[in-house]
Amino acid sequence: MDCIFCMIANKEIPSKVAYEDDKILCFHDLEPQAPVHVLIIPKKHIASLDEVQEEDKELLGHIMMMVPKIAESLGLENGYRLVNNCGEDGFQTVKHLHFHLLGKRKMIWPPG
Ligand code: AMP
Ligand code: ZN
Repeated sequence: MDCIFCMIANKEIPSKVAYEDDKILCFHDLEPQAPVHVLIIPKKHIASLDEVQEEDKELLGHIMMMVPKIAESLGLENGYRLVNNCGEDGFQTVKHLHFHLLGKRKMIWPPG
């Protein structure tokens, strides 16, 4: 499939891996928007949060359960921001579900 994050998950494109198991991959963003900026993706291709199916419940739960552990491993003990851009208005540019985990700077609100 012509999907850049599937290719990263399959190691056809290199990435700087921060965490990996059989279901998910976490790697550093190419254009970091914070001192720590990683992306957490399911290895299974899901185009966006809108495309999540009932059968993906456990996978989504696993991603959420791993967030604090990945954050801790990256030294984000002071907090972090988890972002999912969905669809056109969400400014999703890569059509493979991913969560941005950002930290090591004070975030502002509202976001852009
Ligand atoms: P989004 O705009 O939410 O779809 O986020 C896509 C993210 O993927 C952006 O932050 C990009 O910088 C990042 N990105 C695109 N290609 C790569 C790549 N090959 N390796 C790491 N990050 C990437
Ligand atoms: Zn994909």
